Amino acid sequence: MVDNPVPEDDAGVREHPRYAQMFPVLTEEDIQRVRRFGRLSHFAVGECLYRAGSLCPGMFLILSGKVRIVGRDGLGHERVLHTYTQRGEFTSDVTQLSNKPAVVEPVLLVGGGNSAGQAAVFLAAHAEHVHLFIRGTSLEHSMSRYLTERIAVLPNVTVHTRVDLRALEGGARLERVYYRGAGGVEGCMTTHHLFVFIGAAPNTAWLATCGVQRDEKGFVLTGAEVPDAAPHVPSLQTSLEGVFAIGDVRSGSIKRVASAVGEGAAVVAQIHAVLAGMRGTCQPGTR
Ligand SMILES: Cc1cc2nc3c(=O)[nH]c(=O)nc-3n(C[C@H](O)[C@H](O)[C@H](O)COP(=O)(O)OP(=O)(O)OC[C@H]3O[C@@H](n4cnc5c(N)ncnc54)[C@H](O)[C@@H]3O)c2cc1C
Repeated sequence: MVDNPVPEDDAGVREHPRYAQMFPVLTEEDIQRVRRFGRLSHFAVGECLYRAGSLCPGMFLILSGKVRIVGRDGLGHERVLHTYTQRGEFTSDVTQLSNKPAVVEPVLLVGGGNSAGQAAVFLAAHAEHVHLFIRGTSLEHSMSRYLTERIAVLPNVTVHTRVDLRALEGGARLERVYYRGAGGVEGCMTTHHLFVFIGAAPNTAWLATCGVQRDEKGFVLTGAEVPDAAPHVPSLQTSLEGVFAIGDVRSGSIKRVASAVGEGAAVVAQIHAVLAGMRGTCQPGTR
C-alpha cells in the first residue's frame, strides 16, 4: 500500500467500457470462499507489497484500504499505473499466477530485427512501457510486417529511430543508459531492464582446430561454398568429409525454424550417401 503523492495516471482507465472485466470485483460470497486459501495480513500505509523484478508473493485480495501499482517512466518519474480501492478487488495477472518475476517498470530493447520485434510484443504485455532503440530510420526496413503492424497499435511501445546506444551506468543493477540520437544529440534514459537483440554470434570457435572451415563471421561453410570444394560435393557437407552442418550455424542458411528442420531432413540422405560410399571403399575385414 502506497500513500505517497505520486501522480495518478490511471483515471482514463476507469472510463474504459470493459473496466469491470479488466478489474473484476469479488462478491462477499466469493471473498468468503477465497478466504480459506489465503491469510489475513495488515500493511502500514506506504508499505511496499512487492517490487518489480522480485518474485510475486501471490495475489492480494483487498478487504479494506487502497493498493497502488506504481511504475516509472523513461525519465525515472514515478506514476500510478492503477489503484485498487474497493473491497473485493484483487491484484493478479499472468506473472503473479505463474509465479514469475513481475516486470512493471519500463524496459529498453535494442535492435530492429524480428527477434527484437517479438520481444517488444511479448514484453508490452508485462512492462509498463517498452522503448525500442533502432539505428535505422524505420522498422519496416528490418522487421516483418506482421510485427511492425502489431507494434504500431501497442500504446505502450515507443520506437526511437536513429538512436545509437553508447554506454550503460549502474551499480548492482542497471540505472541508466546513454545514447546518441539523430543529428548527434546526446541523451540519457533511466532504465533498469535492457534487452539486446543485435544479431547472433555462432558458437563455433572450437571448430578452428579440427579443419572445419568457417566464414568471416564464424558460420560454417558447406558444399560449394567451401574453397576448392570438389565438384558435386554434398551441399551440407563441411570442408571435412563426413562432417555436416545444418541450420543457423551454416553459412548462408535462412535463419528460420522451417529451413533448419528442412536441412535436418535433407542431410540424412546426404549422410546415407557418404556412408554408402565409405562402405564401398572398405575392404572386407577392415571394419
Ligand atoms: C528471439 C528469436 C526469435 C525467433 N523467431 C523465429 C520465428 O518466429 N520463426 C522462425 O522460423 N524462426 C525464428 N527464429 C530463428 C530460429 O529460432 C532459428 O532459425 C532456429 O532455431 C535454428 O535452429 P537450429 O537447430 O539451427 O539452431 P538452434 O535452435 O539455435 O539450436 C542450436 C542448439 O545447439 C546448442 N549448442 C550450441 N553450441 C553447442 C556446443 N558447442 N555443444 C552442444 N550444443 C551446442 C545450442 O544451445 C542450441 O540448443 C528466432 C530466433 C530468435 C533468437
